[in-house]
Amino acid sequence: MTFTIQQALIPTDSCYQTVDVQIIGDRITAIAPQLEPVGTLIDARHQLLLPGFVNAHTHSSELWQRGAIAPYPLELWIAELHEFSPLNPEQAYLSALGTAVETLLSGGTCLVDHLVLIPGQEIETIAASVRAYREIGIRAFIGPLIQDQDLAASIPNGQARRRIAPFPRTTDEILDMMQTVVEKFHAPEQGISIMVAPTGTQLCSEALFNGCMELSDRHNLCRHAHLLETRAQQLLAQEKYGCSAVAYLHKLGYLSDRTSLAHCIWLDDADIAIMAATGATVVHNPLSNLRLGSGIAPVLKYRQAGVNVAYGCDGAASNDGQDLLEAIKIGALLHNITDADYRHWLTPREAVQMATLGGATGLNLAAQLGSLTVGKQADLALYDLTNLSLLPRTDPLGLLVMGRPTQVVKTAWVRGEQVVAEGQPTRIDVADLRQRLWAESAWVGDRHSTTRDQLEPHYRQVMGLPE
Ligand SMILES: [Zn+2]
Repeated sequence: MTFTIQQALIPTDSCYQTVDVQIIGDRITAIAPQLEPVGTLIDARHQLLLPGFVNAHTHSSELWQRGAIAPYPLELWIAELHEFSPLNPEQAYLSALGTAVETLLSGGTCLVDHLVLIPGQEIETIAASVRAYREIGIRAFIGPLIQDQDLAASIPNGQARRRIAPFPRTTDEILDMMQTVVEKFHAPEQGISIMVAPTGTQLCSEALFNGCMELSDRHNLCRHAHLLETRAQQLLAQEKYGCSAVAYLHKLGYLSDRTSLAHCIWLDDADIAIMAATGATVVHNPLSNLRLGSGIAPVLKYRQAGVNVAYGCDGAASNDGQDLLEAIKIGALLHNITDADYRHWLTPREAVQMATLGGATGLNLAAQLGSLTVGKQADLALYDLTNLSLLPRTDPLGLLVMGRPTQVVKTAWVRGEQVVAEGQPTRIDVADLRQRLWAESAWVGDRHSTTRDQLEPHYRQVMGLPE
């Protein structure tokens, strides 16, 4: 594929410039105010060109439960989520496709799917999501969500003595499954990468983390996990390890410049210093954190300490959408109330940089992705500046980040392949997807989670809430 994007507006350090951008194969080969036109010509007048955003943390199958779960904190919300998770790979395929469509149409060209696996059909679940991402053409990092402890173990014991059921699969079985997954599906040169992604210290043994690190080292895989999303997890780490979860992961050697960690809310200054020293990335999921009452991640402190920060939507059952522009807006404005010194507040330009280069850095791809640079991969999005929600003309990035942009992505490319044209995915039929999502679902009535009922009394007690 060879093409020239003509007369697109791009941000410079402090202003904007109109340029032509030449793409040959999967790479940007030239950027200049006027280029000799080569290949297909794309008229980008009145459009803003940005590198694609990275949705650096989501769980695609949660799409089936968006809007369904009542307001509960993570530890109780997840009990209901697991109880009603989809049970066939075809549903996993459809939710991966739906997640990818919403990501592409909100400016994302890459996503990290921390993929919940259907018990007994783990490989089939992964195959289904890989099929979806290949079809639609988005760049995907799939981190099969693994754990080797029962859900009840994610709540601290406090004074109580509890018997927690053993996990139905052994750590070795899980690691063997991961080895197979890597051999079958890891194809970064084709835009599909497998990452190791134990769910987090709250549900994983040291052996599971060690096995994941070994796999990651052997196959050069990125590492992912949830980290200190809730106060309960902070208490649990002290109970389990006698230190913070960050200090524990650091001791194990899990933190590195190809490790990205979702949420990172309950970290102290010593933890932040470890994150900075190891080069690990924080993935900020502001909407999920609000929805589950998890807290506000100290993003301004991370940035001051030199910790890389990326943006994620998190799964659609804790958000309850997959709109990256919405996550970027809330995630930029939220911190203004955490620091009175407005000189620390995020600007739209910084927020866009976190969502692009920040995301790429967390996947160890800063040299390949995340900015409009000659030699980098052509993962790009064009925004229609004549869209009513971006008018009248003021500051394009201000309008995009702080406004309420609606259907503004006109064109997008991944690895030089056009995946969105005229505001619609080019390689799948969205009308057909809508029809299938409708047909496979029903209005959720007054459903009841028995697992949540079982966990709730202990949760309330250990968190100091009235009975
Ligand atoms: Zn998550």
